[in-house]
Amino acid sequence: MTILRVALDVPVPTLFDYRSEEATRADIGYRVLVPFGKKRVVGVIWDVATKSKVPDSRLRPIEKILRDVTPFPREWLALVEFCSGYYHGPLGEVVAAALPPRLRTARTVPISPRDYVLTPTGKDALAATPSRHRRLRALLSRLAQGRASESELDAHARGARSLLERGIETGWIAPIEPERSEPRFVHAHELTSEQRQAIGILRGGLEKFQVSLLFGVTGSGKTEIYLQVIAEVLARRKQVLILVPEIALTPALEAAFRDRFPGACIVTQTSAMAELERVRGWLLAHNGRADIVLGTRLAVFTPLARLGLVVVDEEQDASFKQREGVRYSARDLAITRAHIAGAPVVLCSATPSLESFQHATSGKYVLVPLTRRAIDRAALPAIRLIDTRVHPPQEGISPPLLEALAARLARGEQSLVFLNRRGYAPALACPACGWVKGCRRCSANMVVHLAVQRLRCHHCGLAEGIPRACPECGNPDLQAFGRGTQRIELVLGEKFPRARILRVDSDAVRARNRLEELLERAAHADILVGTQILAKGHHFERLTLAGVLNADSGLFSSDYRASERAFAQLQQVAGRAGRSNLPGEVLIQTRYPEHPLYQSLVRHDYTGFAGRLLAERREAGFPPFVFEAALRAESRDPVRALHFLRAAIGRAPQRGAAITVFDPAPMSLARLAGVERAQVLLQSRSRPRLQTFLREWSDSLYRTPAHGVRWHLDVDPIEF
Ligand code: ADP
Ligand code: ZN
Ligand code: ZN
Repeated sequence: MTILRVALDVPVPTLFDYRSEEATRADIGYRVLVPFGKKRVVGVIWDVATKSKVPDSRLRPIEKILRDVTPFPREWLALVEFCSGYYHGPLGEVVAAALPPRLRTARTVPISPRDYVLTPTGKDALAATPSRHRRLRALLSRLAQGRASESELDAHARGARSLLERGIETGWIAPIEPERSEPRFVHAHELTSEQRQAIGILRGGLEKFQVSLLFGVTGSGKTEIYLQVIAEVLARRKQVLILVPEIALTPALEAAFRDRFPGACIVTQTSAMAELERVRGWLLAHNGRADIVLGTRLAVFTPLARLGLVVVDEEQDASFKQREGVRYSARDLAITRAHIAGAPVVLCSATPSLESFQHATSGKYVLVPLTRRAIDRAALPAIRLIDTRVHPPQEGISPPLLEALAARLARGEQSLVFLNRRGYAPALACPACGWVKGCRRCSANMVVHLAVQRLRCHHCGLAEGIPRACPECGNPDLQAFGRGTQRIELVLGEKFPRARILRVDSDAVRARNRLEELLERAAHADILVGTQILAKGHHFERLTLAGVLNADSGLFSSDYRASERAFAQLQQVAGRAGRSNLPGEVLIQTRYPEHPLYQSLVRHDYTGFAGRLLAERREAGFPPFVFEAALRAESRDPVRALHFLRAAIGRAPQRGAAITVFDPAPMSLARLAGVERAQVLLQSRSRPRLQTFLREWSDSLYRTPAHGVRWHLDVDPIEF
């Protein structure tokens, strides 16, 4: 008897055995429909065996192997298996995360877009079709002029799809593979000598696994460099995978790719896509047609048989880390992926993660530095600190910043006022008794949103009306404390009544429903007020001033990664100013101008800053010099979560001195949407030992009674 070992999306770390009459080892990697309890579910055939531990009487037969999609290749299975092993998530859960939603169902997948032609019988049929069959005639006569795609045909005859299906059945119409066009590359710039050098280094390493860190200031032309390297890889008839942090950035980047690579088959993969579009692109990559796959973290799982290069743009970005389910890092998986395929990886950043920076300076990665901006006249912006003890802000904005804004207005240039806090004010409080409005589901304050007259929790999304009086003491004069983007927008409107002011944050995006539209309008504004949405990757011609309002909030966090992130973000904001031929200026309001972070920033000295942070981390025993993992427990009842964690520690395998297990502690956001969260942090100087420990531990955790507690492991965690 043949036993199929199937990966199913079930939260237990095993494969499930089924009987099959027809299957062979060649079926490994196919999707399969199987009964599971009372349901039928789709899994992936992971292995074929002759024996099972499950008694014969309890082995159920599969329903059928789904052969409409060719089996997933070995390399893909290896990547998924690595992800499951390293992040300690059940294989079936990783498979589910790695597949587009449509492939998790048994519904047939529509074939990737094809072209259609008229057959000789079709030609006769056209002549014989009476004119009252208008739609059919329209379709056939369009095809009589030559091949066409389904979407072209749709424009000629409504409901072309069902007509096509019937036409194929009767033999009038035949589907054919669309013509393959050769990807070409459009050169856009005379390269700078730094760029040429960088491209030379990267080109030299294209035929093997190798990690390079393309480390260059904003505007140094990193994108241009990887476009050129991609052109070289395409010329060698290989495929390229590009990971980017923001969904919002992919349409613009995709457009740029289409301009620069006419004729290339370019596919995007993000979670925001429609189901069919997503699966079609995925299959184009899987069957080898796609030349370039561009996407967010989930794109790391797109199968590419001819993978020749992986690019991770803004590699330090926290969005590459998955925060639910199997908590993988797409950046780190991209490296594993390239390793499996024997292809190079290029990590790009102006402010690399300390992990990557450490590897690049120690020689494990190839460091490719760029020190100047690509456009001749675009010098790096001058960064100045405004000491708010000397220049106290009025309504959040200091007099020197106001003057600088006024000067830009007078010259017809654009300014950006950046603060990383949306809403009107971050807290509603009673000055009489000290009451502060908290979210009843989270350990967080509710944020005042005056534009919609609501209070909102930014963690769980809960919304409420604004109370008229203090529920504790009845005081009717509640106050909104602090400032968010909405409040700054109003303040600026009062100071500069004639200026065109535009707020760009996720609330504005939601209200206007498209970031691209908002960005289009942004090009014509005098003053932009925005959050990090505006900081990333956008290019505004006339923008010459960036003012930063609440920068200090990143300086004194309990999270050791906060200053690394703060630097990256400030540099990104600074990078918006003066990208073209007008000189840029950045003004940062701070109470701590002497802080080393600011001092490095003013000198554009990420290398010095990172060196100092790395020394501190080495001293204190933090990553990248130790490896971390966390066991988290979530429950409606805080006592239970902690109780589970203590029981888990009690069951931990022998660990010796190689592994430090810290005491259970609540997460910094202890309550989220009514769920209490706590964790145990683990550290080790040895990654393999930590992995061995986690493997044994997680086996025993599945047997630890959980009583209303959900738990998971997070390897290389970034939230605490
Ligand atoms: P980065 O990714 O390093 O921030 P980009 O690749 O986006 O930089 O380049 C910044 C700007 O400089 C873009 O507008 C780009 O078109 C332009 N640019 C890049 N390389 C050159 C070059 N060699 N000559 C002129 N302009 C260039
Ligand atoms: Zn009160
Ligand atoms: Zn909440």
